[in-house]
Amino acid sequence: MSMFDWYRPSGTHVCPVCRTSLLEWQGKDGACALYIWQQGIAVPIGQDCDEDCRGSAEVMAATRLPVSFTIYSDDCGRHFVAASCRSVEGIWTETHVELSVYDLKS
Ligand SMILES: [Zn+2]
Repeated sequence: MSMFDWYRPSGTHVCPVCRTSLLEWQGKDGACALYIWQQGIAVPIGQDCDEDCRGSAEVMAATRLPVSFTIYSDDCGRHFVAASCRSVEGIWTETHVELSVYDLKS
């Protein structure tokens, strides 16, 4: 099963081409355990799955994001949008929305 994590960037973000609001973000550069990451908080704020597939709270509390990672949003049906993110000492601090390379190739 292909897993990912959910990401909640600070502020509001829109498609750089058509300004569609982007609300849901996913990424595969973190733990890929359906964790929910919120910008500004070091540890996952939750895990989006049933009780029986959940990992231990200790493991989740020890998990951090990489120094740089990329997240994606499918909310714009016309463009494939990514955001490059950075974290400092495990805390997600920056989000830069950009048109994904996959979209630029098409
Ligand atoms: Zn768009």
